[in-house]
Amino acid sequence: MTHHHPPADVLFDYAAGTLSEGEALAVAAHASLCSRCAREIAMLEAAGGSLVDVAEPMAISHGALDAVLARLDEPIVIAPRQPELDAETRRVVPKPLHAYVGRSLKELPWRTVGRMYEEVRLPLPAKGPKVSLMRLKPGTLVPRHGHRGQEWTVVLAGGYHDGGVSFTRGDFDAKDASHRHQPRVDDDGECLCLVVLDAPLKLTGTIGLFVNPFLRI
Ligand SMILES: [Zn+2]
Repeated sequence: MTHHHPPADVLFDYAAGTLSEGEALAVAAHASLCSRCAREIAMLEAAGGSLVDVAEPMAISHGALDAVLARLDEPIVIAPRQPELDAETRRVVPKPLHAYVGRSLKELPWRTVGRMYEEVRLPLPAKGPKVSLMRLKPGTLVPRHGHRGQEWTVVLAGGYHDGGVSFTRGDFDAKDASHRHQPRVDDDGECLCLVVLDAPLKLTGTIGLFVNPFLRI
């Protein structure tokens, strides 16, 4: 059961379709593990749909109608095939991420960063936030850091503690420029997270002087 959820305005923006693709992916990953947020999103989407229903009909130009009709002649785009993932990956990685992850966890090109964690960046538009899977060993203490922007983390496996608060599978951890923190991975297993970062980390301790270059995005 998840204990930490996206803020209400984030769920609202998700339902309204105004989040970036990377942000939406984090919310979708959480909602696929959290029935409470899945229900909330369904309600918001239904409410949004009813607003569209009561909106006054608007006249459209002939050009717009022609453009819609012309699109009917366009070839049908076939959605990308769902990748073949092993059972472990399908168990751990929520379905909304499957097409982005593209292959089984053990076959991904993990890159070790600053001897501290392993990372695979997911293929998303470069102008949006940076979206990665991160894997940390049990007991890893991440250097104290702040943020220049927002950092959203969705725990997919294992867990960590941050400021005395526990985060485990499904939990959504939203940090922004007002937070300084030092998460520590729990001792009972590796921690796998989806991390959506819209600006580089800002390390605050002296260790930051040494580690920061590795953390630039
Ligand atoms: Zn939730």
